[in-house]
Amino acid sequence: MKEIERLKKAILDEYPRLSEESKFCFKCHPDVPCFNDCCGDVNIFLTPYDILRLRKNLGITTDEFLKKYTISPFDKNLKYPVVMLKMEENEKKSCPFVSDAGCGVYEDRPWACRMYPLGLASPKETDKAKEGEFYFLLKEDVCKGFKEEHEQNVAEWLEDQGIKEYNRMGEYFKEFTLHDFFQKGGNLPPEKIEMFFMACYNLDTFRRFIFGSSFFSKIEVDDETKAKLKEDDVELMKFGFDWLRFAIFGEKTMKINKNVAISKEKELRAKGKIKNKIDE
Ligand code: SF4
Ligand code: SF4
Repeated sequence: MKEIERLKKAILDEYPRLSEESKFCFKCHPDVPCFNDCCGDVNIFLTPYDILRLRKNLGITTDEFLKKYTISPFDKNLKYPVVMLKMEENEKKSCPFVSDAGCGVYEDRPWACRMYPLGLASPKETDKAKEGEFYFLLKEDVCKGFKEEHEQNVAEWLEDQGIKEYNRMGEYFKEFTLHDFFQKGGNLPPEKIEMFFMACYNLDTFRRFIFGSSFFSKIEVDDETKAKLKEDDVELMKFGFDWLRFAIFGEKTMKINKNVAISKEKELRAKGKIKNKIDE
């Protein structure tokens, strides 16, 4: 993790900043001498949308996917849980999806794999909070794609790699993790870390939780939305973020059932935590 922090600092302080119009020379194809060399011994952080796409591609549950293909490193400096692709235990520390023919999950490969050789920096994660996001080029020595005579600009690369959809879906996660709560040093207690992990990364368990508990007797959700949550992973992912914002940041993104709200108010009044008007 320290290595990653060092890289982040170097990117913010030293790397040339690219806009969508910036041009760069690069092409990756099966005939490059380094084909597949970048698909091993690499740190790939997975977003909730990455997991949703990968597990669908593999036809397995999110729980199976997390157990088989990921690690969740522990670091006391992490503000929230992160999930990374687990590399194989072979000499090359290969990605579990790479084969001689290339990426075995190409259509649903993670955001980070689509982006390479570009990266996207969000300075809000640091003390340079007022600066905007920017793209940068990650030139790895192993990569011979930079020697190819193929020029494109950043916007063309994003379009070609199908990144816009991933960016759109990634916004929900990014907005959440860059929330002032975390920026101002807020820490999650263990039960909220579990909520975070389930709603962000383990959508099948989250679905079982909301449909198999008293969740809907406490939170008002209309039937049309409930039907979507049963079938549609993207809707469930967005709903999960609303729930986390409600439960962790206290935002009004969910509506408490009227009867539950009344009995909660009575309970708080009984404990003296809400004053009756006459007492004020
Ligand atoms: S997911 Fe595909 S592109 Fe990404 S590292 Fe693995 S094999 Fe390579
Ligand atoms: S190292 Fe670069 S050029 Fe080689 S396969 Fe990976 S991305 Fe393509």
